[in-house]
Amino acid sequence: MDKQSLFVQVANLEERIGELYVELGSLKQKIQELIEENQRLSQENERWKQVLVSGETTAHAGEGIDNLYKIYQEGFHICHLKYGSLRTEGECLFCMSFLNK
Ligand SMILES: [Zn+2]
Repeated sequence: MDKQSLFVQVANLEERIGELYVELGSLKQKIQELIEENQRLSQENERWKQVLVSGETTAHAGEGIDNLYKIYQEGFHICHLKYGSLRTEGECLFCMSFLNK
């Protein structure tokens, strides 16, 4: 093997190493993007969990309204103006508006 072809081989190798280095860089970039994407998705997942949990809380609030409705039907005020006092004047618009929320 002559000197000239050895130099050519080394030059080719250097070129390939250079290309691999660039490829490695873009792979690292892609990994970084995937990590960020993964973080974004788990944050989004966490947000949806919170939405679901608050949805359940709202459902419980619905049960609360049902209980208040029963109390109202039994003749008591559930509005903030006269809460807990006996309804003597028939239907109370404040109670009604509270129930219709
Ligand atoms: Zn009332």
